[in-house]
Amino acid sequence: MTPATLLLKGGTLIDGTGAPRRSADLLMAAGRIAAVGAVEAPKEATVVDCAGLVVSPGFIDSHSHSDLQVMENRPEKIRQGVTTEVVGNCGFSPYPARADRKALHEFANGIFRGGDGWGWSNAADYLSEAERRTRLASVVSLAGHGTLRIAAAGPKLGALSEHEMDTMEGCLEDALTGGAAGFSTGLMYAPGSSAPSAELERCCRVVARHGKTYATHIRGYSFHLEEAIQEQLDLARKSSCRLQISHFQTVGRMNWDRQQHALELIERAREEGIDVEFDCYPYVAGSTVATQLLPQWTLDGGMEALLARLADSTQHETIASETVAGLPHRWEDIVISAVGSSQNEWVVGHNVQEIAEMRSKKPVEALIDLIGEEEGAVNIISFNQSEDNLRQSLCHALSSVISDGFYVHGRPHPRLYGTFPRLLGTVCREKKWMPLEQAIHKITAKPAERFHIGGRGVLKEGFAADVVVFDPDTVDSPATYENPELYPQGIHAVWRNGAAVWTSGVLEKVLQ
Ligand SMILES: [Zn+2]
Repeated sequence: MTPATLLLKGGTLIDGTGAPRRSADLLMAAGRIAAVGAVEAPKEATVVDCAGLVVSPGFIDSHSHSDLQVMENRPEKIRQGVTTEVVGNCGFSPYPARADRKALHEFANGIFRGGDGWGWSNAADYLSEAERRTRLASVVSLAGHGTLRIAAAGPKLGALSEHEMDTMEGCLEDALTGGAAGFSTGLMYAPGSSAPSAELERCCRVVARHGKTYATHIRGYSFHLEEAIQEQLDLARKSSCRLQISHFQTVGRMNWDRQQHALELIERAREEGIDVEFDCYPYVAGSTVATQLLPQWTLDGGMEALLARLADSTQHETIASETVAGLPHRWEDIVISAVGSSQNEWVVGHNVQEIAEMRSKKPVEALIDLIGEEEGAVNIISFNQSEDNLRQSLCHALSSVISDGFYVHGRPHPRLYGTFPRLLGTVCREKKWMPLEQAIHKITAKPAERFHIGGRGVLKEGFAADVVVFDPDTVDSPATYENPELYPQGIHAVWRNGAAVWTSGVLEKVLQ
């Protein structure tokens, strides 16, 4: 749709800054917000009656893994009101890709749900294609450390040579110059997990020089949460880069009491002048690839090397015992959400304990067998957090709210379909954990500020007309872990750059 002159009349405006709601009209013209307040309708304007509804900025999903899917203009995010996605997280970005892309595809396909055809040689190419093909969202991208490392040195683990290090820094420099909004690490995913701190420090210095943001999936969220956070705070202190700790949480019930201390580390660093914040999704369960449960040295050399190790009886015992020792969960907390083959499809929706009983094996053996049979293509949903800790991190003054959503061949995590309506409905209206104004701030102006997304995230004259209209009494997500692929309710219209990109049909005239 081309941007029309549209007056949203009589709605309750929540402008993204955190300021209290107020009754006001909003005029959109030529793709921008033209006026806010008591506005007389210009004669060319279409007037949309928004009485009883909330008018807010389009939501910014500042931690998404839809790097490939944003180009497909799929409905999952726009139906939640998301008009900007920050991709390239946790060390995974679709650039820089070398001519031989096999290692990159093996590394990222569990998160990207890609085939063997994707890859861009640099950020500028990726971003210009995204701009051309993506109609529903503005795409902001971070350069992923894992991808950069594979471009510089292949999938090997351990310290890089000086030459490889130079190549990687050069690629990062190129990405930031070419429009990437920052840099991300995924320090639980091989090969990025094997990087020494000194390597990360050099990357952070490049980021700081460009005044951009460093977002990190830290080395651990369970037994070593505080150490892992401290490492990142030290990197930010030494390099002076802006730091965003990704999907902050405390994983595994035996670790739940660590959270308070971890938050205090972040608060203290902030007082010291370090520019650090964090983000979190509004669910107690997380989602990732099953190879995350294995010791990451088993992935040295890529998938083939992993499968050879799993099949090697002399290494089997060590891998199994290290997996058990590193596990912060109970086996029943880990549910298989997707597998690559049809013969194992029956395991989807079952937890590892159940699968072990059905296969008459120990849980760790059942898991290792499954990863081997599926050649690594297994995704999991794991019940990580306590409700109290989730509330504490969601409501914390330093947190943004994100989806961390990604696509799988199987059952996705419900956050892919429901994060933002769930925040507004279940979290604000039902649990009353925070006022709507604060929640909206965490998904609009705050992430815009963290990632330097200019001219979006606030309902303000001159800003892009990214706007959501929703019903505060009904907004929510019906998506569950068992039945995740359900669209939200109560999101009635979404505009991006003044063009209507979604309407539920409740509001008249939106698409005129
Ligand atoms: Zn992550």
